Amino acid sequence: MTSARVAVWTDGGARVVDPTEPVVTALDLGLGRGDGCFESVLVTGGSTPQLAGHLTRLRRSAALMELAHPGDDAVRAVVGALVADWPGEVDGACRVFLTRGLGDGTPPTLLALLAPVPAETLRQRAQGVAVVTLTLGLAADVRAASPWLLGGAKTLSYAVNMAALREAHRRGADDVVFTSLEGQLLEGPTSTVVWAAGGRLHTPPPETGILAGTTQARLFAAAEADGWPTAVTPGTVADLHAADAVWLLSGIRGATAVVRLDGAQRGDAGLTPRVRELLAG
Ligand code: PLP
Repeated sequence: MTSARVAVWTDGGARVVDPTEPVVTALDLGLGRGDGCFESVLVTGGSTPQLAGHLTRLRRSAALMELAHPGDDAVRAVVGALVADWPGEVDGACRVFLTRGLGDGTPPTLLALLAPVPAETLRQRAQGVAVVTLTLGLAADVRAASPWLLGGAKTLSYAVNMAALREAHRRGADDVVFTSLEGQLLEGPTSTVVWAAGGRLHTPPPETGILAGTTQARLFAAAEADGWPTAVTPGTVADLHAADAVWLLSGIRGATAVVRLDGAQRGDAGLTPRVRELLAG
């Protein structure tokens, strides 16, 4: 059994530490306020083929939060220290955390944690997910005009996202699609929503404040290159029920087919293998 690994950025270098060693103090604003951002990077075949997209998004999140960023090389160093001699046959999830540290202009905290992808995630990848739609209670356009709501930033404040997943489990489902106050599709708590309809792939507009998914961006670029048109569409739950197929996309889980939506069984019109091939590209 491969066990978890941790690396921290200190004094201009990456240091691998025992995972049980304390690496942040109780004063860290990432702990006390969730004041920081993070990325989840897939480790597969002993490497991180999608790291570049995550580096870009971490920088963007830090900029949106006015958070000091120690530079891409520092992030590469902590990730690289963990991935070195990670077994090629074990898929891993590498979480990179960047927090405001102790605040008041002190250096940010940067650390990374690498652990095997959980068995339940691997099961969902293979078998698909049952999803419920839940409201996020925000108007679809509010975050575009309200930068303090941190739309588009992958902040550490995921307590609501985790609570939504617990609500899904209470309702006998695996996952969630959030909707806006008016019923527009947003995203999953840890994924981007993509659906196939009318010969196109669709995903909701980033102007709603959802996270711009690196996996969705890769899929849409590969699909366009392969002659499968794509569109950014402000859809509703009815569009998902009417779609040929619906997927939740994330770097760790890839394209996971939605097999049940608000209690209704649904198929994928045999499209999931093509989507996976495009992502494997
Ligand atoms: N939306 C949210 C809220 C997420 O947490 C994630 C996963 O990190 C995604 C979308 C999908 O992003 P990516 O494909 O870059 O993993």
